[in-house]
Amino acid sequence: MLNRIVIVGGGTAGWMTASYFKAAFGDRIDITLVESGNVGTVGVGEATFSDIRHFFDFLGLKEEDWMPACNATYKLAVRFENWREKGHHFYHPFEQMRSVNGFPLTDWWLRGGPTDRFDKDCFVMPSVIDAGLSPRYMDGSLIDQPFVEGADEMQGLTMSEHQGKTQFPYAYQFEAALLAKYLTAYSVERGVKHITDDVQRVNLDERGWISGVTTAEHGDITGDLFVDCTGFRGLLLNKALEVPFLSYQDTLPNDSAVALQVPLDMERRGVLPCTTATAQDAGWIWTIPLMSRIGTGYVYAKDYLSPEEAERTLREFVGPAAADVPANHIRMRIGRSENSWVNNCVAIGLSSGFVEPLESTGIFFIHHAIEQLAKNFPGEDWNPVHRDLYNDAISHVMDGVREFLVLHYVAAKRDDTQYWRDTKTRRIPDGLAERIEKWRTQLPDSETVFPYYHGLPPYSYMCILLGMGGIELKPSPALALADPDAAEREFLDIQEKTRRLTESLPKAYDYFARLH
Ligand code: FAD
Repeated sequence: MLNRIVIVGGGTAGWMTASYFKAAFGDRIDITLVESGNVGTVGVGEATFSDIRHFFDFLGLKEEDWMPACNATYKLAVRFENWREKGHHFYHPFEQMRSVNGFPLTDWWLRGGPTDRFDKDCFVMPSVIDAGLSPRYMDGSLIDQPFVEGADEMQGLTMSEHQGKTQFPYAYQFEAALLAKYLTAYSVERGVKHITDDVQRVNLDERGWISGVTTAEHGDITGDLFVDCTGFRGLLLNKALEVPFLSYQDTLPNDSAVALQVPLDMERRGVLPCTTATAQDAGWIWTIPLMSRIGTGYVYAKDYLSPEEAERTLREFVGPAAADVPANHIRMRIGRSENSWVNNCVAIGLSSGFVEPLESTGIFFIHHAIEQLAKNFPGEDWNPVHRDLYNDAISHVMDGVREFLVLHYVAAKRDDTQYWRDTKTRRIPDGLAERIEKWRTQLPDSETVFPYYHGLPPYSYMCILLGMGGIELKPSPALALADPDAAEREFLDIQEKTRRLTESLPKAYDYFARLH
C-alpha cells in the first residue's frame, strides 16, 4: 500500500497538508513533516477566501477552537481604494449576487440603480463593513440567507463542487505563524512525525524519482510520496527534479513586497471586517486587521520603485505606529511550475506557484491543491491519469486567477503614473481581450468567464468591472423591454435588510472579544 508521505516545509502549506491528510486518512497514512529551524517561513499570508471554512470544517474545528489561538478576525470583502481615482472605494464582497427575471441585479443597476454605488445598491455587506460590524450576533447566530442556504447539506464536498451553490458570507484573517503552530499541534496529536532539520540533499533513483531526502542531523528520510512545501525555493520540484517555472511576469509585473506587522490598540481603532487594497503610484498596499495588530505591506514592481521608496511609502501610509517595526522585504516568484506533480513529487504552496495577493488566493491555492491531491491520491500502480487530472486542475486554477487579477489592472481607470499607464498597454493573457469585448456588451456569466474552475464566480468579475470604472459597460438591451418593478423591489429589499442589519449586528471587535 502506498501510504508514506514526506512533507518538506513547515509553513502554511506544509501544516495545512499534514493536518488535512490526517483528518482524511487517519492512521492509515504515515506522515513525516520536516522543516528547517534555520530557514524561516515567508511570514505573510493572512487573508483568505470564504471557501477556507470547508478546510476547518473538514478538520472538525469550530471557530472558537482555532480563531482565538490565531488572533483571527472575519473578512467580509476586499475593499479597493483609489483604483478608479483617489478618494474612491468599492467592495468585492462574499455575497451571492441576486438575480431578477433571469438578469443579475447589477445588470438592472446599470439600467438605473438607486444610487451611484453599485456595491451598496446590489449587496448588503458593504454597509455592514462600513459600520465595522460582525456578520454574527453575540449569541453566535449568523445573519440569515441568502448566503448559506443548503450549506450544511453540502459539507464534505470540495470547493469546486460548492461553487455556484452556496456563498458563505465571510472568510478569515489570521496570523499565519500562529495558524501553522495550531495546525502543528493538531497534526502531531494525530500522529504526524515532526522533524526540525535542514534537508541538505534530495536523492533520486535511477528513474529520476525521489527515493529520500538527506537531513543534517536525522539522516535519510524515505517515503512513497514527497510533498514539496519549501516555498519559493521549490527545493524538490524545481531544484531536484528541474521542473521549469512558467513566469507570469509579462502580464503581472509586481515582483516585490515589503511587509510590516504593526501592533495597535484594535479596541480603540475598531476592526473593519475586510482586507483593504489601496492603490499606490507603483502597486498597492494591503491592510489586514487582526485582533491585536494589523498586517500591512506594499506590493510593487521593482522596475518602477526601489525597495527603499516602497518601505518609506508604507511607513508613511501606516503612520507613527510603524516607526519601530522591522520591515520584511520579499522577492516574489510570480507564476507556476509547469506541472506541480512530477514522478512521486507534488509541490503545494509557493513552490507550486503564486500570484500577487490582491484577492488573497495563496491559501486558496493550497487548500484547492490539497483537496485535489486527496481526490487523485495515487495507488500502487501510479496510474498517470491521477497525476494528469491533478496537474490540469492546478494549472487551470492558477491561470484563471492570473486572468482575473490582470483584469483588475486593465479595468482600473487610474492612469496618473507611468505604472498605471503601462497597465493599459501591457500584454494580457490569451483570451482575455476577447472576453472583455463580450463583457462590454453583456456582463460576465458562467459562459463567458475563464472556462475552468478557478474559484471566482461570475459575480466577482462584475464587481471588478463595475468598481474599477475604466471599461464602459452597458445594460442588456432586453432590460429596456422588461418590467422594472421586480428589480426595484429587490433594491428596496436590500435597503431594508441593510437597515435592519446595521441596527442590530454587534461591532466586529466586540464579537471577537467575546469569542477570544
Ligand atoms: P513558506 O512559508 O516559505 O514555508 C517554507 C517552509 O519550507 C519553511 O518551513 C522552511 O523552513 C522550509 N524549508 C525551506 N528550505 C528547507 C530545507 N532545506 N529543509 C527543510 N525545510 C526547508 N496568501 C493568502 O492566501 N492571503 C494573503 O493575504 C497572502 N498574502 C501574501 C503576501 C505576500 C507578500 C506573499 C509573498 C505571499 C502572500 N500569500 C498570501 C501567500 C502565502 O503567504 C503562502 O501561500 C503561504 O504562506 C504558504 O507558504 P509556503 O508554506 O508555501 O512557504
